[in-house]
Amino acid sequence: MYWGSVRFFKHVILGAVAILLVVSIGSAFYFGFSCHRLAGQVALLSRDEVEKGGMFTVYAAEDSDNAGSNALLSYQKNFLELYVENNFSYVKPKNKTVYLTFDDGPSSLTPKVLDILKQYGVKATFFIVYKDSDQAKSYYKRMVDEGHTLAVHSTTHIYKQIYASVDAFLNDFEGTSNLLEDVTGTKPQLFRFPGGSINAYNRGIYMQLIAEMMRRGYTYYDWNVGSNDTAMRVSAEQIEKNVVDGVRQNYESNVLMHDAASNTNTLAALPGIIETLQSEGYSFAALDQSVRPVTFGYVD
Ligand code: ZN
Repeated sequence: MYWGSVRFFKHVILGAVAILLVVSIGSAFYFGFSCHRLAGQVALLSRDEVEKGGMFTVYAAEDSDNAGSNALLSYQKNFLELYVENNFSYVKPKNKTVYLTFDDGPSSLTPKVLDILKQYGVKATFFIVYKDSDQAKSYYKRMVDEGHTLAVHSTTHIYKQIYASVDAFLNDFEGTSNLLEDVTGTKPQLFRFPGGSINAYNRGIYMQLIAEMMRRGYTYYDWNVGSNDTAMRVSAEQIEKNVVDGVRQNYESNVLMHDAASNTNTLAALPGIIETLQSEGYSFAALDQSVRPVTFGYVD
């Protein structure tokens, strides 16, 4: 029935589907997310095919009321600038590697974070929440100039709004993507879902959302090391311990930290984190499309 109308296009699309099927579940357990079997079979269209009005099918095996639609979903017809090139092929780093990531900036803390990273020769990744002041724009430029990766987090960071629908998410995403592209001349290719890829606000749409973002070529990163730096009254020492202990469990670590103005203890912890891990032989790198994403999985 539906299977006959499920059509696969191009290697990149096969790659995207494969990734959906093989994503790790370890971090999902660690962070307390329940695991879900990938119930949907999603046909993924190229941009050209969307523009020609191609067919799209979602078959939600666990939800017979919504089991399948042969209509081109509205969000596929919208946001036609939101596509990036991506062959979804990953390269394992030669050395054990730490990807420091900073969410929710930029803020007054951001240039200080950049100073420390520069001092230690460390490249990192910044998942940006929309700010279009001249100062914020100068930070975006500095990040790129100093070899960091600039990526999208959110325009509003209001979960209820962002996750109201796939269209709502794309609309939110587009605002920050356009801003960063305007300032730096480069379209961001990576993003992090506010609250992580599977959260209490997107349970009804996360499969469609992930499939749609991957269809458009974007790569999303969850994390496998939490600094817990947004907890109340967490000390710099505790943040450092959380990160160092977490990194020691992995060959590749994606470390969640924040550079909002309130995260002064993150800033204070940063030199110790870098010094300790460098002395233990870890490399630091910025994320790019060649880095296999850590994702909260929904396969088992
Ligand atoms: Zn955030």
